[in-house]
Amino acid sequence: MRKIYRRGTSDPDRMTDARRRVLETLAEYGDLSFTLKELAEMASVTASVIKGLVTQGAVLEQDSPRDQPFMRMDPSLPSKNLTDDQAVASALLAAGVASGKYGTTLLRGVTGSGKTEVYLEAVAAALKSGRQALVLLPEIALTEQFLHRVQARFGAKPAEWHSGATMTERRRIWRMVGQGQAQVVIGARSALFLPFQNLGLIVVDEEHDTSYKQEDGVLYNARDMAVLRAAMCGARVVLASATPSLESWVNAEVGKYQRIELKSRFGAAVLPEMRAIDMRAEQMQPGTWVSPTLRDAVSDRLAKGEQALLFINRRGYAPVTLCRACGQQIGCDNCDARMVEHRFLKRLMCHQCGETKPIPETCPSCGAEGKLAPVGPGIERLAEEAIALFPDARIATLSSDLFGSARALKAGIEDIAKGGTDIIIGTQLVAKGHNFPLLTLVGVIDADLGLQGSDLRAAERTFQLMRQVAGRAGRAEKPGQALLQTFQPEHPVIRATLSGDEEGFWKAEAEGRRMAGVPPFGRMAGIILSGSDAEAVFDLGNVLARNDGALRAIGAQVFGPAPAPIARIRGRHRVRLLVKAAKDAPLQQALTRWIAPLRLKGDLRLSVDIDPQSFY
Ligand SMILES: [Zn+2]
Ligand SMILES: [Zn+2]
Repeated sequence: MRKIYRRGTSDPDRMTDARRRVLETLAEYGDLSFTLKELAEMASVTASVIKGLVTQGAVLEQDSPRDQPFMRMDPSLPSKNLTDDQAVASALLAAGVASGKYGTTLLRGVTGSGKTEVYLEAVAAALKSGRQALVLLPEIALTEQFLHRVQARFGAKPAEWHSGATMTERRRIWRMVGQGQAQVVIGARSALFLPFQNLGLIVVDEEHDTSYKQEDGVLYNARDMAVLRAAMCGARVVLASATPSLESWVNAEVGKYQRIELKSRFGAAVLPEMRAIDMRAEQMQPGTWVSPTLRDAVSDRLAKGEQALLFINRRGYAPVTLCRACGQQIGCDNCDARMVEHRFLKRLMCHQCGETKPIPETCPSCGAEGKLAPVGPGIERLAEEAIALFPDARIATLSSDLFGSARALKAGIEDIAKGGTDIIIGTQLVAKGHNFPLLTLVGVIDADLGLQGSDLRAAERTFQLMRQVAGRAGRAEKPGQALLQTFQPEHPVIRATLSGDEEGFWKAEAEGRRMAGVPPFGRMAGIILSGSDAEAVFDLGNVLARNDGALRAIGAQVFGPAPAPIARIRGRHRVRLLVKAAKDAPLQQALTRWIAPLRLKGDLRLSVDIDPQSFY
C-alpha cells in the first residue's frame, strides 16, 4: 500500500529552513496529502527531512486508501421525454458518435431548449460503443444541479474535474481515465489533458465562453484544442451554445461543421419579449440608474410573486471617484487605470493589477476635504438604489468578489433558484447557464456599456451577453420579458438584439470582418512589449517594426508600435504591435523567425497572442 503525507498537529522542536519549506508547502495546499516523492520535490528537500518531521509528529504518515472505482454508467436507462425537435437532434448526434469517425457539430439552441438533454444522448451513444466521453463546462456552470442531471440519466455520478478537486481526487481521476474506468468526465478546460484511453466524444458546452481562452500563461483556446484532439483520435465534437462564437458560426456556414438547431422549448414558455427603454425620454434623478419604466415593471413582477433581475456588468460601487473641487479622478499608482470604489470592502481597487487602498478623506491632488464623490454605477451602488426603491423586497447581489469562494457562490445561486430572493442584482456571472425558474423579468441597466472601446469583438460579445442575460427570463411556464436601458436604441447591435434576428446579425458581422480581413477570415497576432522604461520599450517596438522581412515574406503587415489600450500596468509601460496576415499564411512560423533575432535587455518582456480575444 502507498504511504501519503500530510500536516500533523505538533511543531518540530527545532525549525530549519528545509523543515519550514515542508510545512509551508503543506500549509499552502490546505489539508491535502502527497506522496513522499511529491512532497520532497515541491519543498525542495530530501526524503529524510520529511521522515524527520514524521518522527516529531509535525507530519503524519498514513496509508493511502485504494482508489475507489467509479460506478458503471448505464446508457440504457430511459432518457427524458424529448420533443420531436430534440429527438431528431439526438439521433443525428448519436449516429455521428456511432460512426467512430471524427466530426464536429455545432448544436445551437436558445436557453431552455434542452441542449443538455440532447447532448447527453450523444454521451449515451459513446458509452454504448464502449468509448469515453468528456463534457467541458465553464467552471462556474459546473454545479451540483448539473451533476445530478447527468446522474439521473446514467444512474451513476460522473468523474468531476475542476480546480477545487483535491490532489488525491485528481490522481484518482487521472488513473481511472487512463484505465478506461472513468467513463464520463465533466470538467473545466484542463480536463482536455487527461490521458483518455478511448475517447469517443467531447462536448464543449457554452462554446463561446471567453473562459475557454486563457488570457495569460500558455495561450490556447480549449474549443480549438478539443477539435484538434478529437481529430487525432477519431472522436466526435459537439459545440453547444445559444449564442455561438463567430468562428464556429462561420465554420458551420462553410460546411466544416455540421449544424443542428434546436428551436422549440420545453413546456409552454416562449423566448422573452425584448424591448428597449429609451433613456433619453426617461425622467432620471441624478445619481440613479433605474428608470421609472423599469421600476414599474419590477413592481409588477413583485406583486405577482415573481423574480426580477437587474443586470449591470460592472463590479464595485462606482467606476470613477472624482474630486468635486479640482476635477481630478483617482487613478492607480501603478497603472493607467482608474481606481474603482468597492464600498463593501471599504477600499478603492484597480481592476488591472488588483492594487487596493483605503478611500482617502482628502483629495490626493488638491487636498480638499470631503469633496471626493463616486461617479457612475457599479453593482454595489445599483443594489443600494434597489433597496431604496423596493424596501420590502428580498434582494440578493451576485458578483464574484462578494462571495468568499466558488462554493459559497454556488450556494447563493441555488438559494435564489429556490425562490429565496425577489430581486437579483447581478454581473455577467448570472448570464452563465443557471436555471432561475421564477425569474420573469430582466432589466439591463446599461445595454450600451459593451459598445464602447475599440475591441474587435465588442459587438459580438455585447450581442451574446444581451441575448444570454435576456434568456434568463421566463423559463418554466411563465412568459418572460427583457428590458434594455439604452441611450442609442438605433445602434445596430441593440437593434439586432431586440429583433432576435441572429442570422442577420452574424451575417453582417461576418461580412464586416471578411472585408477587414480579420479573424476568422484572416489571421492576427497581438505583440505586447513591456518594461519599466517607456523609451526602451518604444525603441524595441521600432526595431521590430523596421525588421519585418520575415513577415513581408508571407505577405503579412505590421501596424505600430503604439501605446497599448492600457498603456501602463503594474508600473510597466506597454506598447503594442499588430500583425495581420491572410488566412492561409504560415503566420506562426513567420512570427518565430521575426522575433528570434531579438535580444531582450533588462526587464523588457514580449508576449505574443495569436488571434487575440481582446486587445488590452
Ligand atoms: Zn481635488
Ligand atoms: Zn493598477
